[in-house]
Amino acid sequence: MARYITTTLPYVNADPHIGHALEFVEADTFARALRLAGEETFLNIGTDEHGAKVAQKAREAGEDSQTYVDKYARRFRDFADMLGITYDAFTRTTDAHHLAAAQEFWKRCDAAGDIYKAAYEVKYCVGCELEKTDSELAHGHCLIHPQLEIEVRQEENYYFRFSNYQDALLAHYATQNEFIVPEERMRELVSFVSGGLKDFSISRRKEKLSWGVPVPGDDEHVMYVWFDALVNYVSAIGWPDDETHFTKWWPVTQFAGKDNLRQQAAMWQAMLMSAGLPLSKQIFIHGFITSGGQKMSKTIGNVINPNELVEKYGIDATRYLLLRHAHPTEDTDVTRERLDEWYTANLVNGLGNLVARVMKLAETHLEEPTVLPEAAAPPSQKEYLDAFSAYRFNDAVDYVWSRIQKLDEKITEEEPFKVVKIEREKGKAIIADCALELYRIGGLLNPLMPETSETIKTAVRTNKKPENLFPRLS
Ligand SMILES: [Zn+2]
Repeated sequence: MARYITTTLPYVNADPHIGHALEFVEADTFARALRLAGEETFLNIGTDEHGAKVAQKAREAGEDSQTYVDKYARRFRDFADMLGITYDAFTRTTDAHHLAAAQEFWKRCDAAGDIYKAAYEVKYCVGCELEKTDSELAHGHCLIHPQLEIEVRQEENYYFRFSNYQDALLAHYATQNEFIVPEERMRELVSFVSGGLKDFSISRRKEKLSWGVPVPGDDEHVMYVWFDALVNYVSAIGWPDDETHFTKWWPVTQFAGKDNLRQQAAMWQAMLMSAGLPLSKQIFIHGFITSGGQKMSKTIGNVINPNELVEKYGIDATRYLLLRHAHPTEDTDVTRERLDEWYTANLVNGLGNLVARVMKLAETHLEEPTVLPEAAAPPSQKEYLDAFSAYRFNDAVDYVWSRIQKLDEKITEEEPFKVVKIEREKGKAIIADCALELYRIGGLLNPLMPETSETIKTAVRTNKKPENLFPRLS
């Protein structure tokens, strides 16, 4: 079977943070687990590059918008590579094929009668020559120009008839009860949509914001960044030009944070209905990572940077920490101390120690590598496979660690290191059993810690103890 998986494209007004690392690693692990089970996968990641915030950041950096987004796209791509993400497409919303797809998508929604122009009011400070939001005003006046009156101006924007899709969305949620995982997010979504949907603005006037996809047939407007960015999920697999490629992969399994629930599970799905395309297959909503009980922020000084994690613990250990110790659907609080403890207890003293123990015995006492009768067979353990298909990555890791613990216990109970000195053949048989089980553990680690998985399997295959997998923290 072919499965298409996508993350939500990060918006490039800041550097990659730990939430991006979590989503990338989860989606990559999901794809790797499917491949291990023999399925064909296509993983899309990329960057969301239009809009006012990007244009402003570029101005602040003294760069033109294109130079700015090129730099950030590179940064996110390097970040994904650093984490070992096996992506098939890195879609940038400034790519020419994406621009064309966004315009075609607009035309289809327009043809369906779902796009209309309407007036809206903006608050304008003539002192700043800028539009102001309510948060930028105090008692109805500009913070910088309190002596000037704020002007209320009428402008026209394009709107999407979101309100048309309330019934259709609710009907879809009712028949596809696992459309959103976890269930509590589905309840939240149903409650939001049941409350009534307001049409949303999908354009900006070009004179105010030129950094966007031109609206087809109207030189005065560009698309609002949300509308254009969401279309990446279909443009990434060749829509609308490559029908064969698109049909092979669509519908998509989406990964998104809980702050993206409405956009992905309601707005985007309504847009798909409007364009006459099938809806997403499933949307997995992950939790957030907080630190010391608070959202990470530079001001508080509690930011845990993913680059710092990779530098300190290594790539696979970082993947391990995110997959096992961040709850997949609830918020997780981490601190540097707790990360250190998890690393030392479960990787240094756990897996790392076991590999060294077993391979030292095997290297010393076995003349030949252990025979691997089922070397090529993919894992068939239901508990393990079910955990991946339900996005319970922590349970999948727990399962592997239960096997690690059992193997540790086997060595302690059967004492092959003693037996081999008294009854050589019996001792060797126990050691070979241990090496075979270690090889299977290596196989189970494949989607979670890909490099470690290969190192362990190679060690058993060549009967050679590897270098220390997880060095102690100094
Ligand atoms: Zn002002």
